[in-house]
Amino acid sequence: MKQVEHSVDFCVIGAGMAGFCAAISAARRGIKVALMHDRPVAGGNASSECRMHISGADRHNHIKNMRETGILEELRMKNLARNPQRSFSVWDTILYEMLRTEENITLLFNCSCLDAEMDGKRIKSVTGWQTTTYTYHRVKAKIFADCSGDGILAPLTGAMFRMGREASSEYRESIAPKKSDSRTMGMTCLFQARQYETPQPFRKPDWAYTYESCDQLPYGARGHKWPHMGYWWVELGGEYDSIHDTEFLRDELLKIVYGIWDHIKNYCPEKKKAEKLVLDWIQFLPAKRESRRYVGAHVLTQNDIESGGHFEDTVAYGGWPMDDHHPAGFNAVKIKAPATIFYPAPSPYGIPYRSLYSRNIENLMFAGRNASCTHAAMSSTRVMGTGCSMGQAAGTTAALAVKKGIPPSKMLSHINELRQALLYDDAYIPGVRQEFGSVTSKSALTASRGNPEPARDGINRPVGDDTHSWQCRPGDSISLVFPGKSRVNNVSLVLDSGLDKLVAMSYHQKDDYINALPGVMPRTFRIEGKINGRWRQIEKVDGNCMRLVRLKVNRRLEGVRFVLDKTWGARESRVYAFYVD
Ligand SMILES: Cc1cc2nc3c(=O)[nH]c(=O)nc-3n(C[C@H](O)[C@H](O)[C@H](O)COP(=O)(O)OP(=O)(O)OC[C@H]3O[C@@H](n4cnc5c(N)ncnc54)[C@H](O)[C@@H]3O)c2cc1C
Repeated sequence: MKQVEHSVDFCVIGAGMAGFCAAISAARRGIKVALMHDRPVAGGNASSECRMHISGADRHNHIKNMRETGILEELRMKNLARNPQRSFSVWDTILYEMLRTEENITLLFNCSCLDAEMDGKRIKSVTGWQTTTYTYHRVKAKIFADCSGDGILAPLTGAMFRMGREASSEYRESIAPKKSDSRTMGMTCLFQARQYETPQPFRKPDWAYTYESCDQLPYGARGHKWPHMGYWWVELGGEYDSIHDTEFLRDELLKIVYGIWDHIKNYCPEKKKAEKLVLDWIQFLPAKRESRRYVGAHVLTQNDIESGGHFEDTVAYGGWPMDDHHPAGFNAVKIKAPATIFYPAPSPYGIPYRSLYSRNIENLMFAGRNASCTHAAMSSTRVMGTGCSMGQAAGTTAALAVKKGIPPSKMLSHINELRQALLYDDAYIPGVRQEFGSVTSKSALTASRGNPEPARDGINRPVGDDTHSWQCRPGDSISLVFPGKSRVNNVSLVLDSGLDKLVAMSYHQKDDYINALPGVMPRTFRIEGKINGRWRQIEKVDGNCMRLVRLKVNRRLEGVRFVLDKTWGARESRVYAFYVD
């Protein structure tokens, strides 16, 4: 077989949302990255192969303004701008394009990691098998991040991991079972239906299950009222091995999915409502919730989450409730148990850096559902918005650690630098303010209306009742006049992307969701520079769709000014940050 060798700084396994953010953030910070992913499209459970909506700390807007910013917000805005129809294939393409056009990324799609070469407690290389080219790819790197969900590098490297539920006594977790066990949350195959003009018949395959009565299904008659996009409770695997039994579980899940559709079309007392619906798509790749979880320098627990996660080394955050699915999944109904229980969690809560690197393998990091959490904590951190927050933190760490020539654990001594790097890239860390350089902090900040100071208070989103922003209308301007002529490399703006709105990802999200760029976002604006006492235009931006705007200037100036010309429709907008470096 053909063999190809790669030598990079940082190798990421798995391009789910966590791995995607890890790879992009590291590459943008200038290190060489290889991204090895066993599927043809990125996004993991959010890809067109699985079609899960990305959720996170805003809990579908129940917690206002808590949406994850940084790379995820950039993706959401790109998707709104280019994919108002919310096609999952267009979404796949946006992810693909970002990876393909990032010059520091070697993209290895269709490539499954199956081997690792060790040098004591360090990983020297990993090897993957690429099915489309019949090629073995061996990737040498200084740091590795396992974002595969299944924690493939655990068995390959001897990294410490857990699978199953901890006993409540181990971490004093009240929602954990009394005795530890190997049970996990299960996996799911979703489906999507399409509305036709005329009634459409359905004949189930002979091998599928039959459910004549609504009571045979979880949540009874009310559980399958809206049969357009499948049901999360079509879940199995928690009582099996959620890695090695996947093919068998896929077969079972397909039997259930077809049985449910047969029930909806042919047995349900409300079947008339579904007579024009046709099964349009079925997920043949089961989407997983839980398998291996690495043991890091810190194991995040239920108690950490409940107490708000106030860590000295917080670098990411979550906010989803602890959404602990019953291991029996679909079959929980048979023992009259709920398919999931939502245990309250504060939003936001902090996730420490120490939960993102291995306790015993020197150059191994991780992010996403296989990060270092107990089962109970992971029932919250597993959502993809939280995975993106962790992934961006892992990738940013790798970039800084590679440049310093130190292993991930030593980055604990540089935690403020890491956190400032994340804030600079528009990630959010609860309770941590962005620090600006001396030119920005010593400048005179003025505006054509209102108080501009919140645009350099270091908090770049509304928190509680404080908007932390300068409020403006088309025609308004905000300026920084420097203490003297100063070198400006970049002018940065954090603009209004409507964090209080719900952003749609699929065609089925309607009602409260926006499916076009938020009206409040600045669309057309100018950046002016003060040169010899006069304001001159240095850049005009038209058609902006980004929250974080960074313009390379590379010149000496006496000041900079932002002038808003137009929004995407709203009368008012906000600037959350305006600074130079
Ligand atoms: C039915 C269902 C509904 C859900 N609903 C939501 C929801 O509404 N919102 C939400 O945010 N979350 C939801 N979740 C949870 C969420 O989807 C997962 O926890 C999340 O996908 C984890 O993200 P990740 O990036 O860690 O892993 P994944 O999304 O699993 O991505 C990891 C990727 O790594 C790849 N990979 C695995 N092994 C290898 C290997 N050996 N080599 C190379 N690549 C490999 C996999 O193909 C995969 O694509 C749901 C989960 C399920 C199952």
